[in-house]
Amino acid sequence: MEREQGAGGQKRAPRAVVVGGGVAGLCAALELRGRGIDVTVLEAADRWGGCVGSHEVAGLTLDSGAESFATRTDGVKSLLGDLGLASEIVAPHPSGAWVQLPRGAEELPKAGILGIPSNPWDPEVRSALGLWGSLRASLDRYLPTRPPTDQASVAAVVRSRMGKRVLERLVAPVVGGVHSADPELLDIDMVAPGLRALMAERGSLAAAVAAQRERSAVRSGAKAGSAVAGIRGGMNRLVDALVERLADDGVTLLSGQRAERLDHSGETWHVGTAAADGAAQTFDAELVVVALGGPAAVELLSDAVPQLAGHEPVPGPEVKLVTLVLDKPELDARPRGTGVLVAPQSPGLQAKALTHATAKWSWLAEQAGPGTHVVRLSYGRAEDAGRPLDDGPETDDELFRAALADASILLTVPVAPEDVLGWDVVRWEGALPFATVGHRERVGEIRRLIAAQPGLAVVGGWAAGNGLASVVPDARKQAGELADHSV
Ligand SMILES: Cc1cc2nc3c(=O)[nH]c(=O)nc-3n(C[C@H](O)[C@H](O)[C@H](O)COP(=O)(O)OP(=O)(O)OC[C@H]3O[C@@H](n4cnc5c(N)ncnc54)[C@H](O)[C@@H]3O)c2cc1C
Repeated sequence: MEREQGAGGQKRAPRAVVVGGGVAGLCAALELRGRGIDVTVLEAADRWGGCVGSHEVAGLTLDSGAESFATRTDGVKSLLGDLGLASEIVAPHPSGAWVQLPRGAEELPKAGILGIPSNPWDPEVRSALGLWGSLRASLDRYLPTRPPTDQASVAAVVRSRMGKRVLERLVAPVVGGVHSADPELLDIDMVAPGLRALMAERGSLAAAVAAQRERSAVRSGAKAGSAVAGIRGGMNRLVDALVERLADDGVTLLSGQRAERLDHSGETWHVGTAAADGAAQTFDAELVVVALGGPAAVELLSDAVPQLAGHEPVPGPEVKLVTLVLDKPELDARPRGTGVLVAPQSPGLQAKALTHATAKWSWLAEQAGPGTHVVRLSYGRAEDAGRPLDDGPETDDELFRAALADASILLTVPVAPEDVLGWDVVRWEGALPFATVGHRERVGEIRRLIAAQPGLAVVGGWAAGNGLASVVPDARKQAGELADHSV
């Protein structure tokens, strides 16, 4: 790639524009800058981090979106190391989570992935499934396996290997809680990457889960049994550290700049933006990384890559999070461990998950002090094409009332308005990718079409897979490859 000469006759550094200042965009910027590229990041909102952010409730600074990361990959751990935060990585409390079934609450088996157990005869699994359920699940060991060649939903794989009870009692609540969607719809290769390949290698789904859990534990250095980790002070510290590093490294960070247009002339890309006051600007660069949600990314790229027509990903569901800070000493005993995932058919409950944040993270319990508790309930589940499954609570007041009622049932401790020291509702519209069956192939095709355009790449949760463990390493890899091809 030829570049005009600077005043001193030296070659000018290539320029890159990163569109979107979520974790994917910030990681891409870090990688590009590390390779000597002159980087500008454009973010539509007035804050950085996208789905990773903070809010203050009753004087406590809490995560408003993502609050942990999976240790399935070492992508987040190594990023935190690069940012000087390795010593701040913390494991959640080992008490684990519960699952609320129509017939009552059970401890969620600890050694699972997405609720899929590694041993159908673990006492917790046996208790949740009953004798017949465990017997059926253990058939998995005797069924033949083969390398995955076809597309499959989470539900299809779990049902065929381990039966309906594992699907309904363990997997549906976890998938609903984490991905806000029905396991019948989700592509297993997006939400549990590598699991089917491991199944072919190890001979059963249970053995694949055990192997993946073991690898996570070794990678994270966390205690066995913990598939996620967090940061002391909250995941939002990752964004602060990324932004600080990028600013120190000379990256131009522009918030309040919504990208609305992308085209090119020769080898130069032009990104047209509108600021909140309507002022328009154009940014020129040899490299562009689009780090938006799937539908927005494909829309922005559609003029430059017309072949993308018809490849628009389905928007994700609206997720609503209600955070309550409670004066409730009875919760010091962690009645439901670190939280509860709700099976879809559970009567009388509208929440799909509850995180007892002060039970999960000891740094937060210390900050809140004895008797003060943070619980976060989530609402909204995708049924089809991103539509919500049920009407559910909508307004802030409806959500607050539903959260009090649901928390009382789920935590087995009555929670009344007078126990509430503070509360907040955070809405995430379409922020979770809706990775329906075949998503991996569709993303592969989109990336092939984009790779045919010199200097262009897409990153983010919809392309890499939901969750920081997928987003971070993928964004760094894609941006690194883009830079390597350009210099
Ligand atoms: C409620 C919630 C809880 C979650 N919890 C966890 C968790 O505990 N652990 C975990 O690993 N993952 C979790 N996730 C998922 C994880 O947060 C995401 O996978 C990840 O943060 C996605 O990052 P991203 O950069 O791809 O996208 P985003 O974070 O969505 O960032 C995209 C950015 O692009 C900006 N933007 C949009 N349009 C434009 C435009 N036209 N021009 C410029 N900028 C634009 C947006 O404002 C946003 O900042 C959670 C997600 C949600 C929504």
